[in-house]
Amino acid sequence: MDKRSQKYRRMYARIFRILGDLTPLRADCGQLCGAACCKGDAQTGMRLFPHEESVLSVTETPDGGRLCVCDGSCDRKSRPLACRIFPFFPTVDDRGRIFVEPDMRAARLCPLIANADEILFDRRFFRALRRVGKILSRDPECRAYLREVTEEIDTFAAFLG
Ligand code: SF4
Ligand code: SF4
Repeated sequence: MDKRSQKYRRMYARIFRILGDLTPLRADCGQLCGAACCKGDAQTGMRLFPHEESVLSVTETPDGGRLCVCDGSCDRKSRPLACRIFPFFPTVDDRGRIFVEPDMRAARLCPLIANADEILFDRRFFRALRRVGKILSRDPECRAYLREVTEEIDTFAAFLG
């Protein structure tokens, strides 16, 4: 493994440690929706953060994308970052400030977004995810990815009103 891969391996290991077992709720939200976000098959998967392949097995897609393919079940300890933080995302503004916001791309799928006003979330998760966002934003490629996804989320939010 080259130095660059080692650097990302360390960064994601740290990020996974910070998130630990934290999830948006203290309870298993999969019981609310029948685990709607884990209905994959051999052709689908989660989009990876830059260089996350340093810690995960990856499938290249025909259009050059990289996915962690899953068929709806996984070893939780090895799940991608996108799964660990779903349905939230560390967005970044023009001044580089990090916020933790609902990922509006998942608004139609995930009841945590639709019912956010009535749900008692685990604040530790949000603190940890903001910290993770800050770590990611220190890396130029990851910062660019955060910006790209922030724009996608903003577009969805505008579309959904
Ligand atoms: S879709 Fe939302 S509520 Fe359902 S398991 Fe996934 S994160 Fe939890
Ligand atoms: S990798 Fe695991 S957590 Fe992520 S979508 Fe697949 S089954 Fe769900």
